Amino acid sequence: MPELPEVEHVVRALRPAIVGRRILAAELKLKRTAPDISRPAFNRLLKDALITAVGRRGKYILIEFESGQMLTTHLRMTGKFVALTPDDSLPPYAHVIFYLDDERRLVFCDMRQFGRMRIVPNPSKLPKELLALAPEPLAPEFSEEYFLSTVRKSHRSLKQLLLDQTRVLGLGNIYASEALFLAGVSPMKDASTLSKPRARKLYQAIRDVLQEAIDSGSTLQIDLADGNGSYFGSSERFWRVYEHEGEPCVRCRAQIKRVVQSGRSTYYCPRCQR
Ligand SMILES: [Zn+2]
Repeated sequence: MPELPEVEHVVRALRPAIVGRRILAAELKLKRTAPDISRPAFNRLLKDALITAVGRRGKYILIEFESGQMLTTHLRMTGKFVALTPDDSLPPYAHVIFYLDDERRLVFCDMRQFGRMRIVPNPSKLPKELLALAPEPLAPEFSEEYFLSTVRKSHRSLKQLLLDQTRVLGLGNIYASEALFLAGVSPMKDASTLSKPRARKLYQAIRDVLQEAIDSGSTLQIDLADGNGSYFGSSERFWRVYEHEGEPCVRCRAQIKRVVQSGRSTYYCPRCQR
């Protein structure tokens, strides 16, 4: 599943391709992709809509229109956008098609069908799943003070806390493991027992890990023209512990361990992370 840095790169790829374009017609082919609206209403609301901005909140992609409407998209497992020229044939699993005024089609493909779109009538009516999100992790609102108080109040394991998007936004399974490794903190530790200096270190590690993943995105292949490609690129090579079970720790050479927490794998170094 794409995590925040990958979604950021999707947004950056979309911007030059669609901002300033008008949607001449929209075609929702799979009802499930936009479950709260009928197909005719979806198509009608986005017809002739002028795209003015593309942004992101957590892992939601926000496409804004001149009318004040917004289209939110969550890619989930396999959702992706492709931009096709008139000569390109429709890729498999094309569930939503936007016919743009430059003759191209912006297509939302989704093999597993978990991706979701929603039309928001105006920015003051944001859906509750967006309102509930913690501050953007790289924005000033995600302050050290906010993080310290969030950690102090939680009795969950740090790994679980870091995955809760209403408390700490932007870390999925991969980057949560990586941030805890960078900070030298055990994923099993009760959050409230983390000392202030170590919580500060973890706060910095979260930002560093996300920033590093975004910066290394030049190796991430988000090719809007490739209907058959996947959004998964090669940020894997930056991972220090994730999927490195049994391999030597890059810092101390102890063997990286894997444990399952709430049904999800966590990778850590038993010597460096306490
Ligand atoms: Zn180690």
